[in-house]
Amino acid sequence: MKLQERDEKHLWHPYTQHQTASKPLGIVKGKDALLWDEDGKEYIDAISSWWVNPFGHSNERLAQAVYKQLTQLEHVLFGGFTHEPAVLLAEKLISILPSNQQKIFFSDNGSTAVEVAIKMAIQYFFNKGDQRNVIVAFENAFHGDTFGAMAASGITFFTESFKGQLLEVVRIPIPEQGKEYLAENKLKEAIREHKVAAFIFEPLVQGAAGMKIYSEKALNNLINIAKSEGILTIADEVMTGFGRTGKTFACDYLSEQPDIICLSKALTGGTIPLAVTSATQEIFDAFYDEDVNKALFHGHTYMGNPTGCAVALEAIQILQTNETQQNIKRIEEHHKKFLQRLKDNPKVENPRTLGVILAFEVKTTGNTSYYGSIRNQLYQFFINKGIILRPVGNTIYILPPYIITNAQLQHIYNVIEEAIEEVTT
Ligand SMILES: *Cc1c(COP(=O)(O)O)cnc(C)c1O
Repeated sequence: MKLQERDEKHLWHPYTQHQTASKPLGIVKGKDALLWDEDGKEYIDAISSWWVNPFGHSNERLAQAVYKQLTQLEHVLFGGFTHEPAVLLAEKLISILPSNQQKIFFSDNGSTAVEVAIKMAIQYFFNKGDQRNVIVAFENAFHGDTFGAMAASGITFFTESFKGQLLEVVRIPIPEQGKEYLAENKLKEAIREHKVAAFIFEPLVQGAAGMKIYSEKALNNLINIAKSEGILTIADEVMTGFGRTGKTFACDYLSEQPDIICLSKALTGGTIPLAVTSATQEIFDAFYDEDVNKALFHGHTYMGNPTGCAVALEAIQILQTNETQQNIKRIEEHHKKFLQRLKDNPKVENPRTLGVILAFEVKTTGNTSYYGSIRNQLYQFFINKGIILRPVGNTIYILPPYIITNAQLQHIYNVIEEAIEEVTT
């Protein structure tokens, strides 16, 4: 029996209506930007396997780093113990993160990185004798699926079933062109009218909302307002981190610095689940006390897993090579040229690019909802053509691994143009 048939018996997939979804593809091998299914069909992974994989599948350097660590010290508890991979990775991250970041808290995935950030923010004020428990977040934000992260997320069908059981969140629009003042005023109003602890945002690009891009100037202004009103800022760099926007972090475009930063996805080069919540010294100091109750009572069993830390360290070293930096620039250049072609296409709306991310909407009269019919037709069209892309409604985006070849990129562009012609009406 094929994998996809055996899968059906016991497996439950993410974001999947099993009655109507087509069977999952059984993948048996990956190398660089390519994946192969159990029938031997080849696919280009144009979205880096949900944004995790910058250096290609089955990367030798990362595999060696994992093997070396697994045979030295695979895991040890992090409560009361430490180890070199954690210390080295923390030192490395602090050297590349915005200069105000001083403390590294590990967990396992983007949602928990956000969960920890929100708990840090609320307890920061609690420890100072100030009860603040409201979060400000953008409309259509995505911060993950655990309760705190889900509350901060603004894509409603993810959260509908849990209404009334979530943390209080005030939503403001993203400061797209023309909406900068509206966003600023809504932020000021939220802080005036609620006990706000923190403002959380995906810096410069909202990933799951369909790669919505907004300006660094507008974000600087919002962070500035939050700071002057004494509330904390949380940059969720889970998608944008490690080169996606053309700089190491999206926050590197900013003059203002967030208090807390969340990292995951590309942190380990797409190999082992690991996440980081980093914070300033000032935040850490609010927990530093004779009183044990002021500690951050949060942890995960696999926290600071040595193998994850070792491979993350290797991934950052690969990111910092000239070769990788040149690859990011090369993809940016290709995207910019394709953007010009898209601008001339009458069926394309709002083409945009930042770093290795390129996105646009296809004009259509059909159902453009998140998992609507247009999305499904486009998805299937790309799969049939051997390209893994996951449109969001009528938004098509590319987020390729940095090692993708020019020929592979051109092929993706061509198939996208075909899709615009053939699928949409
Ligand atoms: C993917 C994502 C998350 C959630 O990460 P998981 O590892 O899936 O829990 C949080 N924030 C952003 C911006 C993301 O893109």
